[in-house]
Amino acid sequence: MFLGIDDTDSPDGMCTTYLGAMLAENLRSAGYTIGELRLIRLNPNVIWKTRGNAAICLEVSGGTPEAVFDTACELIEMFAEFDCENTNPGVVVVNERPDPAFYYKALQRFCTIGETVRRLNKIGALYRGYKCGRGLIGALAAVSSVLPDATYELLAYRSVERFGTPREIVAESFFAAAAATFPHTWDTVDPAAGTVVCVPHGKDPVLYGIRGESPEWVEASAALMISEPPAFTQIWRTNQGTDAHLLDYNGEPQDGVSYQIDGVVDGEPTTLIGGHVDFLFHPDAGGPQIRVFAFEPTKEFRHTVRKLHSSDRLTLCGSWRKDALHLEKFRANSLRPAWLRKSPKCPVCGGRMTSAGYNKGYKCRSCSGRVRELEITEQIRGITEGWYEVPPDARRHLAKPIARIHEEKSGMSE
Ligand code: ATP
Repeated sequence: MFLGIDDTDSPDGMCTTYLGAMLAENLRSAGYTIGELRLIRLNPNVIWKTRGNAAICLEVSGGTPEAVFDTACELIEMFAEFDCENTNPGVVVVNERPDPAFYYKALQRFCTIGETVRRLNKIGALYRGYKCGRGLIGALAAVSSVLPDATYELLAYRSVERFGTPREIVAESFFAAAAATFPHTWDTVDPAAGTVVCVPHGKDPVLYGIRGESPEWVEASAALMISEPPAFTQIWRTNQGTDAHLLDYNGEPQDGVSYQIDGVVDGEPTTLIGGHVDFLFHPDAGGPQIRVFAFEPTKEFRHTVRKLHSSDRLTLCGSWRKDALHLEKFRANSLRPAWLRKSPKCPVCGGRMTSAGYNKGYKCRSCSGRVRELEITEQIRGITEGWYEVPPDARRHLAKPIARIHEEKSGMSE
């Protein structure tokens, strides 16, 4: 059977994965067998998410669905952050995975509580929604999930007595672990900014999370990290880092939907107040010209965006919000050549030459040397074809990092 849970936490504490890992442990102790533990990220544009719009699913065998459901409800009633207005837990138990259509809708679009309850009744699920019951959306999506591409996250959780205190870690060991396991793990640190990014700062129970290609790689990385002793760790199979949220663009942008869009830059990038960078883009799929933003928190990514020019062909990935595309990454597919005219160096003294007049070649101001050769030129784009992404700190959980993009050699580079 499959058990789905969502919406148990608040900015002041708890974490649905922590509750799920505790529940898995309780069920194991009661004699159940726990198969896969899934951490499923849903539409990153829902406004009522606490942090990363996560829901979880446990695969359980042994006992009865009713007994598993009761154990899950008991734990939620004990630990969920019911005082927070925005915490509306949901629990779902099903015997078989339902149609993935609901998962894809919750991942890529929006769902209502009403349609979720109708669907739960139709498939005969055991379910309970607390307060407004919004957590049922994530809980049903998690049990309905399919993972044509999957990654793993090792989550280390803190001892209860340390909740709310600063996390003790040896940052150098995190950099060393990241370097030793890259590209098989990612987003542990941001080498460019010199920061550790896998350690949260809030009151939640997570000590750190290591993301990677396989359970073996995330364990190998965690083994190199020095920190306060975790109370326990749990490896989750996830849809993180897979781009599962992106839809192919059809020329009709919809608010809160994330797209992959091919097309052409249509104007020069501009830097706005606050450091945000924007440019106009003409999608191949037709429809209106669109506005694309690289926001200030994407830091050095904006420097690359500023190097784009009109007529550059790109593939963009990002979310459509408030009439603009919020850029997560892009691929420069073909760049308009841009050349800088430069006078040659003097063959006698090595100095820079200047024009001797129309069609008269160049002369050297220091030694009077002369050449008739053509102007030499230099490419000034400062950007080459390939993928560019926001730094780890600004990355969406679902966004596939470039480290995971393995393109055919035929003209596609990383
Ligand atoms: P954390 O990452 O710390 O677990 P969170 O960011 O997952 O927190 P939640 O507290 O789970 O945030 O809140 C997200 C809420 O949005 C849940 O109630 C979930 O059921 C609901 N939800 C998720 N996806 C959608 C969607 N596509 N449409 C409508 N509601 C959604």
